[in-house]
This record gives sequence, structure tokens and C-alpha cells, in this order.
Amino acid sequence: MKLSKLAIEIAESPTFALNEEARLLKERGEAVINLGIGEPKNKTPIAAMLASGAKLSSGEIKYTPPDGLPAMKKAVIRYTEENYNRLVAPENVIITNGAKQSLFNIFYSILNPQDEVIMIAPYWVSYAEMIKMCMGIPVVVTPEDGTFVPRFEDIERAVTSSTRAIIVNSPNNPSGAIYPDELIEKIVNLCEKKGIFMICDDIYHKLTFDRNVATPAWTFAKKDIEDSHIIVVNGVAKLYGMTGFRIGWVVAPRALIKVMTNVIAQTTSCVSPLAQAAAEGALNGLQSVVEALRLQIQNNRDVVLQEMRTFNGARLIEPKGTFYALPDIRAFNNNSVEVSKFLLKKAMVVTVPGKEFGMEGHIRLSFAGSVKDITEGIARIKWALDPNSPNEIYIGDKKMIRDWM
Ligand code: PMP
Repeated sequence: MKLSKLAIEIAESPTFALNEEARLLKERGEAVINLGIGEPKNKTPIAAMLASGAKLSSGEIKYTPPDGLPAMKKAVIRYTEENYNRLVAPENVIITNGAKQSLFNIFYSILNPQDEVIMIAPYWVSYAEMIKMCMGIPVVVTPEDGTFVPRFEDIERAVTSSTRAIIVNSPNNPSGAIYPDELIEKIVNLCEKKGIFMICDDIYHKLTFDRNVATPAWTFAKKDIEDSHIIVVNGVAKLYGMTGFRIGWVVAPRALIKVMTNVIAQTTSCVSPLAQAAAEGALNGLQSVVEALRLQIQNNRDVVLQEMRTFNGARLIEPKGTFYALPDIRAFNNNSVEVSKFLLKKAMVVTVPGKEFGMEGHIRLSFAGSVKDITEGIARIKWALDPNSPNEIYIGDKKMIRDWM
């Protein structure tokens, strides 16, 4: 069968593949713990359920404008004013099927073949594949000092005449790092000076711990929204734990939104009004749900830090936001794919190899789930890798003895 060369080369999403593997193992009765996918355990906020329920009961479930329902766009405009201190027009906003579609459509709308997009390692798995789907070239900048924060000089050095955009995801999936204000400011200035898009993937911007904040790039912009090259991506998946509703949005210059609207109109037409109503409900509803989720995740992060303290050999830089930790496991094995496979086979714990995020020698642990899963999951990982941990452990009701050290 002849298929598109471009499509064949697109890698499977490792997080979804691992999730499926975990589901199958669970179905077989195995006591699997999933520290793979990033999905909070909370229920949908009531305001979202009521709003989408009311929409469903109306029986008026039709196409919406391709750029989104006016009421949903209005909610995004209010959110942008409150959280970014920017007053934007409806023409600056588009609603998409998740932040994933936002990002894909952005790449599709700004890239010509062979254009380059700079990504900072560790980076979210899907960026590179999306850029390649849009005939672009991902260019990776890796912090050389063992931290997860790049040096500005390295980003500047990676810029060529083919660079179209720099993606900044802070708080960062998979490391939980928040980039310092000075770095964000320098990237904003560089992009303004060179006319390069700065794509801010802000999907975790409210999920920050302690007193850390992720200052929005717009804070440092000298130009107004139409002339600036800042593109902000956000959504309800992580903010309200509404992953299944598939609602994301983009706030950007009108010219870009116009092109993106045509792309949506010719591909998916629009986003389901049921999902848009739910997201609008969440945005306009009680915001204490966001803080409740943040506190719960911060508590989970504290549990991770506590459990990791007694993990000899693994080095963890404290996550300042998101629900991911990216411990360095090079003391055991440099090959993160091997480590993740080993952990699934021996300890029945799903992790994601750091290699997928451009950070070999690390594994990503999601702490979006329950405290029980986190403590038990990390105890199992320690048992599998750390010779100083107890030799016996229960996995489900099976007593397991470590016999490979
Ligand atoms: N960006 C990042 C950094 C993410 O982690 C995710 C979800 N894992 C997305 C974008 C996509 O979010 P959505 O579910 O809204 O498509």
C-alpha cells in the first residue's frame, strides 16, 4: 500500500501508546500504576457541566462560526484581560479542538517548507512531529549545564535567516521548570527585533507552586498585539482538568487568526458547541476550582519530593509548576527507553522516557493522579532500580522479590 511519506514518518505519540499499554495490562488484571499521562483526576467543574447540559437540552447543536462561538470568545477575551492584562478584540481570538489543534494550525499557518522553529529541550513531545507535518524543521536548543533552563545566548545563536518561531513552554512539560523573567524578556526582545514569532504555550500557566509565577511574555512586549509577534496558546485541559472536552484557544495578531480561521473552516469546520459551552461555563464560573486543583497538585508535588529524597542515585530538580517531574536516572542506565520498559515489566509502573522530550537519561513522572499512586509508584521504581531500597515489595497482592541485582 502506498501512503504519504510525510505521514508515515510521523512518530506515534509515546504518551498515548503507553497509556494504551497500561490500559491493556489493567484489563488483564495487573496492578499497573500510570505515572505516564498528564491528566488530573478531578471531576468536570459544575459550571461547565451545567452550561454544556443546557446547550444539549436546547437541541440546537449546529455548526458554529469556524473561529468559535461569540460567547466563548468573549470569555477568552475576559480571561486574557484578567490574566494577561491585555485587552484584545474578537478578531484576535480563535477557539480550537484542544491546544493541540491550536499549535498545529499555528505551524501550518506560519511555516513554509524548510522554515525552522526553535524548541527548547526538554520540550513537549508533539512539537517536533507537528512542525514536520507542516514541512518545517525543528531546531533544538539544549541547556548544557544539567538544568532545564536554557541560556539566552544559545537560543540567539540558533536563530538563522530561516527561523520563523521560537516555542516557549513555561511552566514546562516535562520538567516543571519556570523560565526566569529575564529570559522571557530577552526572547520577547529578540523576536520583536527579528520579526520572529514567539509561540507561548501557556497551557500550564496557572499550575505553579509556592510563590512562583510564570510572567506572560506580553508583559515585556514593546509593540501592540497587532505588530508584536507573540502568539499565546491556552486551553481548559490543564486549567480545569477538562482534557476530554478538547478546547483550546489562540490569542494572536488578526492577520494570523484570519488565516487560521480559514484552515479550520476547510478542515474541521468548527469546534463542537457542546464543548465550547462547557469551556465558556468553566471560564465564567467559580474560579476556586482552579485554585483547588492547583493546591491538590502542589500537595502531590510535595509527596514526589519527599519520596524522591530517599531514592539514591536519582537526581531531581524540583518542579516549580505543571504536574511533571523529570528525574535524572543516569546513575542506573543512560537509556531512558530501556529504563521505562524495565519499569513497566518489573514494577508495573508507566513512565515516559526522557528521550521523547529530547532529554535522554531522564524519565518523566506525572503526578496529576492520586497520592496513593504516586507513593506506591515511586516505591516500586526505587525497588526496581535502587539496590539500597528493600528487596521485597507487594505489587497488587503478589509479593515480589528483586533478583536482578
Ligand atoms: N501543550 C502542552 C505542553 C501539553 O502538555 C499539552 C497536553 N499534554 C498540550 C499542549 C495539548 O493540550 P490539549 O489537551 O488542550 O490539546
